[in-house]
Amino acid sequence: MRIERDVDLRDWHTFRLPARAAELVVIERDADWAAWRARWQAVPLPEVIVGEGSNVLFVADFPGRVVRIATRGWQVVAETATERVIEAAAGEAWAPFVAALVARGWGGLENLAAIPGTVGAAPVQNIGAYGLEVGERIAAVTIWHRVSGETRTVAASELAFGYRTSWFKTDAARDWVIRSVRFALPKHAALRPHYPDLQRWLTAQGIELADLPPDGAVRAVHDAVVAVRAAKLPDPKVTGNAGSFFLNPILTADEWQRLRACAPEVPGFPLADGRWKVPAAWLIEQAGLKGAQLGGVAVDTRHALVLVNLGNGTGADLLRLMRRVQDTVAARFGVMLQPEPTLIGWDGTKVSI
Ligand SMILES: Cc1cc2nc3c(=O)[nH]c(=O)nc-3n(C[C@H](O)[C@H](O)[C@H](O)COP(=O)(O)OP(=O)(O)OC[C@H]3O[C@@H](n4cnc5c(N)ncnc54)[C@H](O)[C@@H]3O)c2cc1C
Repeated sequence: MRIERDVDLRDWHTFRLPARAAELVVIERDADWAAWRARWQAVPLPEVIVGEGSNVLFVADFPGRVVRIATRGWQVVAETATERVIEAAAGEAWAPFVAALVARGWGGLENLAAIPGTVGAAPVQNIGAYGLEVGERIAAVTIWHRVSGETRTVAASELAFGYRTSWFKTDAARDWVIRSVRFALPKHAALRPHYPDLQRWLTAQGIELADLPPDGAVRAVHDAVVAVRAAKLPDPKVTGNAGSFFLNPILTADEWQRLRACAPEVPGFPLADGRWKVPAAWLIEQAGLKGAQLGGVAVDTRHALVLVNLGNGTGADLLRLMRRVQDTVAARFGVMLQPEPTLIGWDGTKVSI
């Protein structure tokens, strides 16, 4: 197990805020799980678990241990006429994993192409994009208790997947670490190329999905998602960011009516339970905040849902900009936006908003 001390965390989260941790351990091999537990028992620092840190922001120095899950590998563990079950290690990089499946012509995850991060983090917030959430494709998750060392495999039906949430976001999951994820990929899943951006890209390329063999159609949807995302979102390797910074608010029918009364043109999507999902990007843009800058951080000029580090942004800048966006949108539309990423404060706990 790799251990480093007094670590610069800029290299360990994609927003690249200046912060230091007392210790970093990297879990790469099977033996490292037990070594980590022994380390925790010997030096019981507060701990934060990360994959690629693309949904975690360190807004202050953290006098604790950052644990990077970096175990690799995936394999087909079962196959029937209708389904392929694939198990992947938690530290496997998500986008290359999806690309490797698609390269074999195996569909099921192509709408989630090019999302930064690791396989192990994907169930935590039930990553979603272009009409698919990963929970729809997960069969089970193998978890390990970092205090007792117990291992369990939990069926997806127990994991309370919802919009950018799951059981892993609850207090009950605090000491459980995801070691591997089992995906059940239907062999003949209907493609989901319906988002207008994907349709436009396919049309511009002259691609008619119905004319392609099934594996070619899976690849075409994957390529469309990759291209559309690249045109829309800043690359964290170039500009520090954490993707969408705010959740799309879910409003009750009454709240939706109130919002429509003050902004009749607001877009909204009805949910099965009678509530409405509203695009946070629209609210931020209409509130005049696109491109707004505060210290070394800004609202992205291309995509209002993304906050970016201009290079010298600090945790304090980020918190001030976040609150300015929240306050301005609340004053204009009566809707309080909530951040999507986990903001880690000095004690390793989530910063309360
Ligand atoms: C440019 C960009 C675009 C993005 N687009 C999308 C998108 O389209 N859809 C979407 O849903 N998200 C998106 N994200 C957010 C992010 O990529 C995902 O949430 C991703 O799954 C995070 O993976 P990670 O390995 O970086 O996790 P981290 O950010 O390191 O961790 C995220 C959370 O998971 C926990 N965690 C990580 N690994 C484990 C583990 N093995 N066991 C237990 N807990 C763990 C962490 O403690 C933390 O709470 C985007 C981010 C960026 C930067």
